[in-house]
Amino acid sequence: MNAPFTVRASSWAGLFDCAYRWEGIHLLKLRNVVGLRAALGTAIHAGTAVFDQSRLDGSGITADDAAGAMIDKLRAPENEFDPSRDDITMPEAERVGLTLVSKYCTDVSPKYDFVAVEMETKPLDIDCGDGVIVRLTGTMDRARIRKAVGGGVGIADLKSGATAVRQGAAVTQGHGPQIGTYELLYEHTTGQPITDDAEIIGLKTKGMPEIATGTIRNGKRVMVGDQDNPGLIEFAAEMFKTGRFYPNPKSLLCSPKYCPRHATCHFHD
Ligand code: SF4
Repeated sequence: MNAPFTVRASSWAGLFDCAYRWEGIHLLKLRNVVGLRAALGTAIHAGTAVFDQSRLDGSGITADDAAGAMIDKLRAPENEFDPSRDDITMPEAERVGLTLVSKYCTDVSPKYDFVAVEMETKPLDIDCGDGVIVRLTGTMDRARIRKAVGGGVGIADLKSGATAVRQGAAVTQGHGPQIGTYELLYEHTTGQPITDDAEIIGLKTKGMPEIATGTIRNGKRVMVGDQDNPGLIEFAAEMFKTGRFYPNPKSLLCSPKYCPRHATCHFHD
């Protein structure tokens, strides 16, 4: 049997945005330097995760402690980034991060009854025929499992970014594949079904810091399809079988800043 093609939950959207870029990053192992705004996102998630984990295990982490964890992560020496590539300074990043983490811990997290935070999952191998195995994998980075009203569970996934909230609602567009993968992995790992719609908790890091939610239905169906329509796993399997990873020079990430293949790719302008 051939070695499986491993696709992390968080990278499905990238595979179908520009597959050529995805191949560069995940199969050819090309790397970009991270921007400060991305580092801010990582730091915000670290702060909110320690807070929510503490709510589960009763370790008594306060909102102030969570803000401290966010600052530590933002300033961590291993958190390398190139400040010349960003539209935000470190003091601004700290201010935005502190505002969002405090607001999340005080106003948002208490509304939820979480049962797991950033849960580890068992890899799920899907035999796509012709010796191609697609392996779904990944910690549920930034996601929580929440108790649903009336019993059962659903996913709540935190998304931060410059445009994570628009017109008072979390932007859900493009997150379906990752959510669907989380749902498959949760069910595979625990043997329990996901019974409720998924929720995106958006944290906006540009302009006025804002937090809002949005709903994703049928994430799983996006991945596995139904009796009439193929899912994304089937399309991905075709790419892996043929080795054809299509370029998309119209991708929003088609720039030297976001694509490590940009210097050698001849498909963009
Ligand atoms: S430069 Fe543009 S088209 Fe080429 S791989 Fe990167 S994102 Fe895709």
